[in-house]
Amino acid sequence: EDPPSADPPDDAPPRRRVRLTHPDRIYWPDAGLTKEGLADYYAEVWRLMAPFVTDRPLALVRCPEGIGGPRFFQKHPWQGLDRSILRPVDPKAPEDAPYLAIRDLDGLTALVQGAALEIHPFGSTIADWERPDILILDLDPGEGVAWEQVLAAAREVRERLEKAGLSAFVKTSGGKGLHVCAPLKPKADWTAAKAFAKALADAMAADSPGLYVSTIAKTKRKGRILIDYLRNQRGQTAVAPYSTRAWPGAPVSMPLAWEELSPDIGPGHFTALNTPTRLAALDRDPWGEFRATAAPLPPPP
Ligand code: ATP
Ligand code: MN
Ligand code: MN
Repeated sequence: EDPPSADPPDDAPPRRRVRLTHPDRIYWPDAGLTKEGLADYYAEVWRLMAPFVTDRPLALVRCPEGIGGPRFFQKHPWQGLDRSILRPVDPKAPEDAPYLAIRDLDGLTALVQGAALEIHPFGSTIADWERPDILILDLDPGEGVAWEQVLAAAREVRERLEKAGLSAFVKTSGGKGLHVCAPLKPKADWTAAKAFAKALADAMAADSPGLYVSTIAKTKRKGRILIDYLRNQRGQTAVAPYSTRAWPGAPVSMPLAWEELSPDIGPGHFTALNTPTRLAALDRDPWGEFRATAAPLPPPP
């Protein structure tokens, strides 16, 4: 059993209880970020990240040898997992291997111990697998698209979501694009959520065919932005707010306030290394109102 521990003061990162083997193992050589450094990063952001990663099935990008080695996209438990990791069974496929979920920072730390360098949650919780509580429009710029164009796309998605009665929040992906997310009251099912997201993407592509596409065909993407609505399907995932990415520089998917969208903040601007400075300078959580502003899925726009 774990030793008893005093609770830290409210604003201090919670104390770590899960043991890290080889804490000095380097996961991001270029950034000098180690396993222990990653666990410390997650302790710093945990308070803000928790609502988006707890109690939902998770897919992980595991890189046991760091970002330069082999990588596995993994949704199911492996040998030697800490007991802080939940193993929820898909009620629709009870014969399948269990999934992975966490409830607290111990769980996330145990994932770090397992070399999970990216955390990709489902859009529904293990309390209700069938009804998503988040809608994600993933903006994927094609070759030659200027960043300003991606910013404009995000603002347009926001406008359309708000017009439909949803609130909208934006984050960098830590890769090449932006994600615009709308909190949902988990009432409508996946079929309805996907239909809504597809209708929104199709409408943008129809209104501005020179700027946007809503189909995956790579040939059509050059110079345009794919409004990728396919995150909104049962079993699909998107990278979590504050998750690191297994790419050079240790970029993170960073929640932003809409006023922060600017040419100065590119998709990989925020990293595990500069995030503590960002958090210290923030006067409010840019996604603090996420759950409070959730609304039921409206009819397709
Ligand atoms: P970018 O901004 O570069 O597009 P992204 O995270 O949005 O970054 P995408 O390729 O648009 O990347 O989205 C892919 C999403 O699909 C991932 O975020 C992940 O959750 C999910 N996914 C599904 N299968 C895989 C896989 N085998 N490997 C990695 N991601 C996968
Ligand atoms: Mn993307
Ligand atoms: Mn995509």
